[in-house]
Amino acid sequence: MSKFEQTYIMIKPDGVQRNLVGAIIARFEQRGFKLVALKMVHATPEHLEKHYEDLKGKPFFPGLIKYMASGPVVAMVWEGLDAVKTGRSMLGATNPLASAPGTIRGDYALAVGRNIAHGSDSVESAKKEIAHWFPEGIVQYRSLLEDVIFELR
Ligand code: UDP
Ligand code: MG
Repeated sequence: MSKFEQTYIMIKPDGVQRNLVGAIIARFEQRGFKLVALKMVHATPEHLEKHYEDLKGKPFFPGLIKYMASGPVVAMVWEGLDAVKTGRSMLGATNPLASAPGTIRGDYALAVGRNIAHGSDSVESAKKEIAHWFPEGIVQYRSLLEDVIFELR
């Protein structure tokens, strides 16, 4: 059974610099997901270290934090059926060279350390990441397309 979920999707500094914000948002909109939170943030290293706390100690961690803090990111929450797993499949593999064409990383990126966008890897991390990036809370609204897209009843 597919589940109605929220996932945290973030366009990384390279995605912003390369003017891919609109293209990435369009993919989620066109797939049928509902946008429930959106903002641009130039995050501090401390905020990013918390976001990536599971990766602390990896050799690429310092470079990852430096890259993520190098410019603004676009933080978003998207809602819909199997949003977490589907968001990950739309992103492609962590290493863009292993990402299938048609995915965001497979269409726009080449280097693992410049892979354009982030997506939560589980419902539990999505909850944590949404609370971390949107402590002010997110909006609630009914999409008029829900009956057409989601087959909820
Ligand atoms: N990363 C990297 N080198 C690596 C592995 C990961 O620079 O060898 C970066 C990459 O930007 C990746 C991020 O660290 O997106 C987080 O890694 P994770 O394993 O969580 O991959 P993701 O969930 O983003 O696919
Ligand atoms: Mg991850």
